[in-house]
Amino acid sequence: MSDRSAPGSTCESVMARLLEHLDGELPPSLDTWVREHLAVCEHCLARTEHQRAFLRAVRARRTPTPATEALRARIERTLRSGGRSEHDD
Ligand SMILES: [Zn+2]
Repeated sequence: MSDRSAPGSTCESVMARLLEHLDGELPPSLDTWVREHLAVCEHCLARTEHQRAFLRAVRARRTPTPATEALRARIERTLRSGGRSEHDD
């Protein structure tokens, strides 16, 4: 028997690797370990599907430059203030 300490410990380890698994960045042996766990653990499988759907939504919605507007506003504010950087000291 190869029971590890607590039933939830494997789940925690798998969840800690979940993003890497979804990104395909895990080495094959670890990736297989995650897949095998997901095959037998509905709890982790549910969280994995949720995370996968979330990542897919985020990536599908990825706009060319989401930060550009905020960045431009900051630059404009800096230019308007005379181009001097502000020192709080
Ligand atoms: Zn699990």
